[in-house]
Amino acid sequence: MTWGELLLSGQKKLESAGIREYSLDGWYLFEHVFGMSRADYLLRSRETVTAEGKALEEFWEKLSRRAGREPLQHILGVQEFMGLEFYVNSDVLIPRQDTETLVETVLCAHKNRGISLLDVCTGSGCIAISLAALGKYAHVEAADISNAALLTAEKNAEKILGADTVKFRCSDLFSAFAPEERFDVIVSNPPYIPSKVIEGLEPEVRDFEPRMALDGSEDGLFFYRKLAEESRSFLKENGAVYFEIGYDQGEAVERLLSGHGFKDTEVIKDLSGRDRVVRGKWNPAWKAPAA
Ligand code: GLN
Repeated sequence: MTWGELLLSGQKKLESAGIREYSLDGWYLFEHVFGMSRADYLLRSRETVTAEGKALEEFWEKLSRRAGREPLQHILGVQEFMGLEFYVNSDVLIPRQDTETLVETVLCAHKNRGISLLDVCTGSGCIAISLAALGKYAHVEAADISNAALLTAEKNAEKILGADTVKFRCSDLFSAFAPEERFDVIVSNPPYIPSKVIEGLEPEVRDFEPRMALDGSEDGLFFYRKLAEESRSFLKENGAVYFEIGYDQGEAVERLLSGHGFKDTEVIKDLSGRDRVVRGKWNPAWKAPAA
């Protein structure tokens, strides 16, 4: 059997399992297991396979996992985000390209390197770490309710930035923060899928990604309500918030923010033209309505 025939039979296995990107996914698994670059492959595709039995076994085992709809990123163990490579596993949401809109919006709006930022619901740490790496901000912190997610986020920070650069802590939103802590910017990509919608998602997401990172309760807005209520207490005067949202949540989240003392709210679209980020500024003139 030649290398070309081996790759093709792997891709066929994925195709018959109904994997949409069977050709590309087959290639990535081939490249990962045999360590062959595209250029090497083009030169050697007609040569007889020289790989050891163990490597061949690994290739077929990984193809079977993918055929069973396990996400490619879980099998490879990594996902690229903002040009940086993040470790991923079933404890964290796989970084999405959509979320780059959130990071780019913050980088664009905040050129002052001296500010402090907090990322709540950090998961893999992709938002906090890419802000620290690309924005070179003086002080970046991140929180998540999941200890398992934080282990992965810390590994990512160490790999990308070096040890002790981003400060991580285990916290249910702001529960582990002292009342006097203040940040210039709070960002979050909280769980925002309405519970019922989750059952209709692709098996890769529904069956393999952490449900606690996706489920935004009945209407998907549970965490925005809490964030809108609580963020203000942890912001410096003139601070701002940036939240990723689902494509149809812009208006609702803007309303939540203006109802809790934020001004200049704005919805920002992602590259495919869909609403993706809501931002708002602390409004010093705001008074909480009497209870
Ligand atoms: N955008 C993600 C998805 O479509 C959901 C992310 C989230 O809930 N924060 O799967």
